This record gives sequence, structure tokens and C-alpha cells, in this order.
Amino acid sequence: MALLELEDVEIRYGSLPVVHGLSLTVDEGEIVTLLGANGAGKTTTLKMISGLLHPHRGSVRFEGRPIDDLLPHSIVNLGICHVPEGRRIFPVMSVMENLEMGAYRHPKRHGQTAALDEVFELFPVLAERRSQLGGDLSGGEQQMLAIGRALMGEPRVLLLDEPSMGLAPLYVQRIFEIIDEIRRRGVTILLVEQNAAMALEHSDRGYVLETGNLVLSGSASELLDNDRVRMAYLGEDVTE
Ligand code: ATP
Repeated sequence: MALLELEDVEIRYGSLPVVHGLSLTVDEGEIVTLLGANGAGKTTTLKMISGLLHPHRGSVRFEGRPIDDLLPHSIVNLGICHVPEGRRIFPVMSVMENLEMGAYRHPKRHGQTAALDEVFELFPVLAERRSQLGGDLSGGEQQMLAIGRALMGEPRVLLLDEPSMGLAPLYVQRIFEIIDEIRRRGVTILLVEQNAAMALEHSDRGYVLETGNLVLSGSASELLDNDRVRMAYLGEDVTE
């Protein structure tokens, strides 16, 4: 049984359907990438999994149980944490306060210290800057803070929306190394990325959405070899 499963999901904004009959699975321990051009419906899909939107049709299951009518806090309580596009950290709160916000679902649990230790181990820069305001961090550090905040909730599944967006190449590399490390620590990852080459190199499988329709899926290596993917998402000329 898949850890997370979407079956024939349609998502609408008002009466406008933007994701049409999407089915996908994420198995425990996998990194799965959702690729697609701007406006394809990737962010919408992550928002729907985390309970910010509800599907018009179809189902979302976590460990086989339907979760598509749950509210966001219940989804977080199940262990599904979302790192939104654009990071959305709290700029006028300190790094430490930002991290504490991520631990709200079990604020007094013993595990909170362990989660914090783990976040500081993964991101030493956050330990060094714990008293600094979130808004004073660089873009790459803010991305680390956003991921760290989600890890404070001790997720089983991390939904990562465009973690490399707007970052310098060195930070992009570092963010993907950290994604690998998070998976090694037992967290399953569903990733949305514009940087298709990097994302597929670090993923087990992927799905390609075009204007809300699933057009391709396969192992990361199959997708990296696919002409459509190479042309549309890797910027290669495959006409020869
Ligand atoms: P991007 O990389 O640009 O974020 P995406 O694949 O994540 O692209 P979505 O943000 O999910 O795409 O948007 C899917 C479609 O839904 C787009 O046509 C977008 O204009 C539309 N859309 C997104 N948010 C809303 C909203 N709040 N109300 C109405 N339409 C929306």
C-alpha cells in the first residue's frame, strides 16, 4: 500500500477546474517529483494534499485512510507537513521563534528537543543565527528555516514546493543534499520543482503535469531519458 495516494482527483478554484483526474502514489521512503510548467497545477496539488483546498472529485489517502475532507491542522497531525512556495517564514520573528511555530502540534513533548537538535544538526547556520530575525536571513537561509520549521513537526511526509527557487547555485546544491539527508532520516518527500534536472537526479520517480493533466510518469531515469521531458523541462534539443 502506498503511503500517500491520490486517485482521480479534480481540483477547482470556484467552478474552474485546474487539475483534472490526477492519480499518483508516493511510497514510504521515496522522493517523488511533480514536474510541470508554470500554472500546471503543482502548487494547487500540494495545497490540496495539505488540506488548504478540497478536491471536487476523487480521493486522497494516507496509509489507506481518506484524508481529503480533513482540515490542515489534522493533516499536520497525521505527519504531513508542507513547505510552501516562497518560503513564507515569519520575518519579524527570530529564527528560534520560527522553529518553535513548527513544533506547535506537540509543544511540550520531550521530542521537541530532539527535533530541534536534528534541525540544528542539518542546518548549523540556524543554530548560529537563532536569535536573528527570520527576515534578516539570506534567501537560502530562509529556505533552510522553512524546511527546518516543517521538520520541527516531525513529519512522515514532507511536501516541498520549489525549494530551489531564486537561490544561488551553491545553495541549490546544498538544499538538494539536505533533501537526500532528510530522506535518509526516514522522511518521505513529495517535491515540486522547476529545476527538473536536479530534482530528477535526487528522486526515485516523477510525474509530469501539463495544464492540470498528468501526461507522463515513470522512474527518474526514465523521465531523464524521455524526449518530451528533455525538450520541455531540461531545455535540450532532441530533434537530431
Ligand atoms: P507555478 O510554478 O507558477 O506556481 P503551478 O504548477 O504550481 O505553477 P498552480 O499555482 O497550481 O500552478 O496554478 C494552477 C492554475 O490555477 C493556474 O492556471 C493558476 O492561474 C490557477 N490558480 C492558482 N491559484 C488560484 C486561485 N487562488 N484562484 C484561481 N485560480 C488560481
